Amino acid sequence: MKFKYFAVLFCSFLPTLVNATQVNAVRMWSSPEGTRMVFDVDRKVEHNVFVLKDPDRVVIDLQHTVFASPITDLDYRESLVKGIRTGSQDNNNLRVVLDVKSNVTPKSFLLNPTNQYGYRLVVDLEPVNGHAATPAASPANTAPAYGSAIPQQSRDIVVAIDAGHGGEDPGAIGRGGAREKEVALSIARKLEALLRQERGITPVMIRSGDYYVSLRGRIQKARQYKADLFISIHADAFTNEKAQGSSVYVLSQRGASSEAARWLAASENNSDLIGGVSLDDKDDLLASVLLDLSQNATLAASMDVGGRILEELKQSGQVHKSQVEHAGFVVLKAPDVPSILVETGFISNRQEESQLRSQRHQQRIASALLQGIKRYFNSNPPAGTLLASSGKRQHLVAEGDTLSSIARQYSISPHLLQSANGLSSDKIKAGHTLIIPVIGGS
Ligand SMILES: [Zn+2]
Repeated sequence: MKFKYFAVLFCSFLPTLVNATQVNAVRMWSSPEGTRMVFDVDRKVEHNVFVLKDPDRVVIDLQHTVFASPITDLDYRESLVKGIRTGSQDNNNLRVVLDVKSNVTPKSFLLNPTNQYGYRLVVDLEPVNGHAATPAASPANTAPAYGSAIPQQSRDIVVAIDAGHGGEDPGAIGRGGAREKEVALSIARKLEALLRQERGITPVMIRSGDYYVSLRGRIQKARQYKADLFISIHADAFTNEKAQGSSVYVLSQRGASSEAARWLAASENNSDLIGGVSLDDKDDLLASVLLDLSQNATLAASMDVGGRILEELKQSGQVHKSQVEHAGFVVLKAPDVPSILVETGFISNRQEESQLRSQRHQQRIASALLQGIKRYFNSNPPAGTLLASSGKRQHLVAEGDTLSSIARQYSISPHLLQSANGLSSDKIKAGHTLIIPVIGGS
């Protein structure tokens, strides 16, 4: 097969390819797990991808295709790719050769047009010894370094922070040009920094840069980290540009049911554990009961934390709906990780768009999320965590709290709460922290 390289610049001048598919742009996104190349094509394209060794290369052949413009502005630094060469094959087909830094496995697929893009050919490259794909251990569950005489250490609470969208998927775009993926990541980073300062809590980022993580991949990561909470951060868009305010979502019952069916039917959950229990060796009925129990408990916890976060958001600004809402969002479907999705505001609303871009407003939202998360875990410290074992649960008094409402929340008597905090009356002030006594030492 004859094959020759030539400068991309001249591709578009090939006179023989009047009806050829055009590649209009090439983008590249790098994540800790791999590199994604995206080719904008003006129609469906037949393609073939394979690897060559010594040196490692990935070859992408596109039938009857030309480049419309030269490839520019690709940032190779964090990627698995060293360079790109292109050429024509038999004066008809386009060949793209990626020089890669190590042995990779390519996967490719064609995406259908969406609002902002036409057809796209996606080529994902993953390192063959894909070490980065699985977190080695939950950061909070690393074994103590000393001998066994030391009692088992209490673990940290793990909060998985999921910045929505990323990479090829910008999410909603405001009229002023704000992109949801950037707003979400910025707020996520601020929340991460705040949570890192909290003793007994370890935040983990589902994505830490501008790259896309699949929706199922996000759930998977949270479960690998053994997260106690998954919080997905987004910004809304609506045709009515007056829509405004933040919203909090948890999984709908319908979403939960369809997910249960998927878990019970799929072989993908072989030897997977739901809340520490394997469904594998159970008969169908028992497995479905166990899954149901886990889902119900998870949903109740999601509602609890979602409600608290919504209360905090109400105090720090406008909310869109005063109740926690239910939806079938895929990222909320982990059967054993309490999961919420926060729409931090409407990027389609001009005023909110500029707010969502401001560092101060982002910080305010991150603080509200932090307060809601802390309130939730103080009331519901997961077993085995530092917070649970410290015996010193705390309650940050909110506007409208009364001594008896707080006591009810923790199932203790108002009198016990009053005496544990050395209060001379039942008057309490918002912003103060109360110690919640542990009854029976458990
Ligand atoms: Zn979104």
